[in-house]
Amino acid sequence: MGEIIDGRAIANEIKEEVKAGVEQYKSQGLSPKLDVIIVGDDPASVAYARSKGRVSDKLGIAYELHEMASDTPENDVLALIDKLNKDEQVHGILVELPLPAHMDKEKVMEAVDPNKDVDGVHPINRGYIMSGQEGLFPATPQACVEILLRSGVELQGKHAVLVGRGETVGKPLFFMLLKHNPTMTVCHSRTKDLASHTKQADIVIAAVGRAKMITGDMLKPGAVVVDAGINEAEGGGLCGDVDFDSAKEVAGKITPVPGGVGSLTTALILKNVLKAIKKQKG
Ligand code: NDP
Repeated sequence: MGEIIDGRAIANEIKEEVKAGVEQYKSQGLSPKLDVIIVGDDPASVAYARSKGRVSDKLGIAYELHEMASDTPENDVLALIDKLNKDEQVHGILVELPLPAHMDKEKVMEAVDPNKDVDGVHPINRGYIMSGQEGLFPATPQACVEILLRSGVELQGKHAVLVGRGETVGKPLFFMLLKHNPTMTVCHSRTKDLASHTKQADIVIAAVGRAKMITGDMLKPGAVVVDAGINEAEGGGLCGDVDFDSAKEVAGKITPVPGGVGSLTTALILKNVLKAIKKQKG
């Protein structure tokens, strides 16, 4: 059986680093602050936003949640973003998704100052990912990279097969991984014979959104498996894109769901708040 990568332990490591960073800024008289905007009452988004608040509290980051009704005019949201962009006490801004249907998501995302965009969704930050420059990068793909690096997985010269090319996870992850010099294959819904690709992989990363679609017989023995998928499991609870039970018998290392990639996202958003401060200071 392969080693099960403990995402929560890696998240705690990152949180400790963030806490130390926050203390250092506070000793210089700067108090890091994150503002989150939520429009509507999508229960998953509300829960996620509040959990970010609790973790911020623990790490010493000031946190303000702006809850707006689902019928708020787009201009009101843009006006709030503009106010937060100009506020020097605010270092990170995050707009929870999904936004109500009457809003232009791209317009709202582009309104956030790229140097405060801790969710890594502004086109300028997306461009930095492609060019390999330092920017504020989205948490989920970053979590996949951190898991590999912090678990001591060698990427250089290895064959990494990424399943999924979505805008949120797969596409940014492709560029973030490539920086570490693996040879990469990207698979998607039109890929023929997915197993023929995953079977050749030293590293398989799943970012699809289909419950348990990658099974143990699709893996090379000893492969490292990182599962970014979050799906509702049959009979309740969550499961990944990888069939954990069969895959763990073949993999060398594997992330569980829950307890894997998703465990790191809040910690990495808060790490981005510190990165954002650095960018704002120039
Ligand atoms: P998208 O829906 O944007 O992309 C899904 C990708 O999977 C697409 O590239 C699609 O191909 C591909 N795909 C669909 N069916 C197949 C198939 N049968 N075989 C191979 N590829 C297929 O997803 P996201 O990038 O938004 O998210 C990916 C996963 O990550 C989801 O499970 C989501 O829940 C999860 N997620 C997890 C987070 C976390 O915190 N852990 C946060 C955000 C997302 P095509 O491009 O051809 O359509």
